[in-house]
Order: sequence, then C-alpha cells, then structure tokens
Amino acid sequence: MKKLLVTSILLVIALALAACVGSVVRLGGRSRPYRNVRRVRDLATIQGRLKTAAARSDRMALGTLGSVHYGIFKAPLWRVAVSPKGPAEKRLLLTGGVHGNEPAGAEAMLRFIERLADSPDRYPNFAFDIIPLVNPWGWAHDRRRNQQGRDINRDFASFDAPEARLIRDFVRDKRYDLVVDHHEHPGASGFYLYQIDCDDNALSRRVIAQQRERGYPIEQDVRMVVFKTRDGLMRIPGWALPLAKLARMLSMTNYLRMQGHSRVFLIETSTTQAWDDRLEMHQGALDVLLHATDVRARPRRVPAWHTGQARPGTPSSGGQPYRHLYRTHR
Ligand SMILES: [Zn+2]
Repeated sequence: MKKLLVTSILLVIALALAACVGSVVRLGGRSRPYRNVRRVRDLATIQGRLKTAAARSDRMALGTLGSVHYGIFKAPLWRVAVSPKGPAEKRLLLTGGVHGNEPAGAEAMLRFIERLADSPDRYPNFAFDIIPLVNPWGWAHDRRRNQQGRDINRDFASFDAPEARLIRDFVRDKRYDLVVDHHEHPGASGFYLYQIDCDDNALSRRVIAQQRERGYPIEQDVRMVVFKTRDGLMRIPGWALPLAKLARMLSMTNYLRMQGHSRVFLIETSTTQAWDDRLEMHQGALDVLLHATDVRARPRRVPAWHTGQARPGTPSSGGQPYRHLYRTHR
C-alpha cells in the first residue's frame, strides 16, 4: 500500500513536470540551425557499401524512405529490405545513426547488412527493414542533431524534423515483432540497453550477461530523467511514454512502442571504448535479441556468426581487462 502511495505521488509530480517541460520546450527551447559546419564523413561510402551488399544478395533490396534537404546538402534515408525465403514469420526493424555523433550504431548496421548479404541462409524466416542512418546530415558532420538543430530522438511528438516524419510515415502501416535502435553514449562507462514498456527482464538480462561474459564493462550509473540503469538495464515503464509525449520529448523507440510494436530495445555503447569493441557489443547484443525472436531456433544456443567466436574475458583492444570497472549496484 505504501509503495502504491509513493508511486501515485511520483506520478503526479512527473505529470506536473512533464507539463512544465512541455510548455517550456514549445515556447522556444529548440536549438538554432547549424551554420558553417565542416563535413567530416562521406555519404558516398555508405551508398557504395549498401549497393554492393544489396547486389550480392537476392534477398536484399536497397531503397529509401525519402530524402532530407538542407541547402545544398541532400541525402536519402536509406532502407534495406531483406525478404524471407518463405512466408515471413517475424518482422523486424533495425535502425542506427539517429544521433550523428554516435557512429558505431550506424557502422554496426552497415556491417550487419554486409554479413547478411554474405550469409543468405541466416534468419530465413525473418523480414527485415534496416535503416542504417536515420540522421545523414548529423553523421556527415559529426553532430548529434540534424541540420535544424533538432534532436530527432526527442521529436516523435512534434515531428518538426523531416527525418522523424519520414520514419513515422514509413512505419504507419507496419507491425514489427522486434525493434532495435543502435546508439552510443559519450558519458557512459559501459554497455547498457533500454527496454521500453515491457515487464519481462529476462531477455535484456541475457543480452547483458553475454556482454559481461565477453569482458565488456556494464554501465551502472546513467540516469534518464527519473530513471536509472540497474546493472546495464534501463527500464522505461509504459506510464512514462505519454508523459514523454506530453513533454515533447518522445524518442523514436518510445513512439514505436506506443504504436504497438511489441518488443522495443535501444542499445547504448560507450564512446570511450575501442571502436572494434563497440561494434562487437552492438552486434553481440543484436545476435541475442534476434536469436530469441527466432521461433525456429533451439533455446539457449546463440550463434556467433557476426563476431566469429565467443570472446575471451578481455577485449581485443589490448587495454586492461574491464572487470575492475564493474561496480555492484545497491
Ligand atoms: Zn543516441
């Protein structure tokens, strides 16, 4: 009873805060458009890799959701559709590059596409939609936000960003069994994942256990508004989603969960880790999530086809073992 009372009070406070934040944001809390930012990455390389991968696989088709235009900058939001070999038993949406300064998410998606092109028999019953680069301007200029200065991942209530509108229109008539969005967190010390509006922690715990077994650090202390990681898991309860919408801070994954897509996760790696390790963290986590979604897979057996072999207890970067970084959560 006491717990219920505390929860109710917190909920009322959160509602009031959300309303306040929402009104502040709507009254002009947006950033200004970027000016004179140097381009640091070349979109042509991504296009080339996607075309090459799609040409290798008769399951793969490369298309776009549409394009974004900012002055002379024009770029598509690429979409790789991977068809199943028979009837689709599961439908999956994989995304990366929502924040342009979190490059391992987009790179993990590209490598996943390339490996799937080389392994056409993998996941034969899955239909994938893969959007490797949701924020092409941000990626090309190494900025979190789009050219307008909008954080796409806070824009799924107001849809001011063209990228968010393209995603919204694309998913309008679709239903995914699994959604995985790949991010990075510059301030984090280790791996963690968001589990959106889901009471069952078991799958998330398997993902985290695999990362730990491979010797990667697990984040213990990241906060998101009133929520906090608990041994690598950030649980976002269902009641928080309408509040985030009210506050005009709805993320893409929150929006997708509210639209009824059944299992929605967001993976975070720390940019302080070595590049190869970050990619392996993304791919390893995705492996576990995909395997758990595969109804044909035998239980408790996780393939290591993305990453080669199971990793020893220390990362490949040649640094110190990460285990000393673990902290016990109280
Ligand atoms: Zn991010």
